[in-house]
Amino acid sequence: CGIVAYVGKQDALPIIIKGLKRLEYRGYDSAGVALLNDSGLSVYKKKGKVSELENSLKDNANLKSLIGIGHTRWATHGEPNDVNAHPHYSSSENFAMIHNGIIENYEVIKTDLINKGYKFHSETDSEVFINFIEDIYKKNQCSLEEAVRLALQKVVGAYAIVLMNKEEPDTLIAARKGSPLVIGVGKEEYFLASDATPIIEYTNQVVYLDDYEIAVIRNNNLQIKTIENVETHPYINQLDMEL
Ligand code: GLU
Repeated sequence: CGIVAYVGKQDALPIIIKGLKRLEYRGYDSAGVALLNDSGLSVYKKKGKVSELENSLKDNANLKSLIGIGHTRWATHGEPNDVNAHPHYSSSENFAMIHNGIIENYEVIKTDLINKGYKFHSETDSEVFINFIEDIYKKNQCSLEEAVRLALQKVVGAYAIVLMNKEEPDTLIAARKGSPLVIGVGKEEYFLASDATPIIEYTNQVVYLDDYEIAVIRNNNLQIKTIENVETHPYINQLDMEL
């Protein structure tokens, strides 16, 4: 339901938690974040309010991260609980993903992945989606963004997604079709959110991702291409800061 992601020079978690609270008006049943630091890629998630997720992290001393993705879930596939909450890891736990929307052909993909030996922890369509991407990544021995692109040509449904890769601590990959996604362009930092409300306090420069577009934010640079692999030039809108 709600997406907030950050990469830059600041501590990601407080920005993500604050952003998720700003998206609470959309409604949700659970919340979670993924962070990446010297201890690796970690996922924390909880059924209930964003404040409950926040409280559950209070005594954790290992949450400093310059990159992160956060999600508030409105369950469509699988009941609201801690396991079905996002982010979801891929099987290797090298990738983590948040997803808004519904993948309509997930059952066919899931059966195929199970036949290949994949195991699933949640009942969500989203966990199928990230493992589908991982399967393409392994099979094609390509980059993660290329695997995302190829996967998006096969999935049916609606999505706004953001991915993190354990091996790329400066990179966020995002895409959308049918679910909104806004990119905030700051000074040596980028924000991603379902709408501009979590972003406006940091920057008034935003790029609205279009359907069938993939954004790669890497090493403080934003690149956008279509799922047909055609590069597009991001149009930066100036938001009116008078609220
Ligand atoms: N279909 C996904 C799920 O049930 C995402 C729901 C959402 O948009 O929050 O987990």
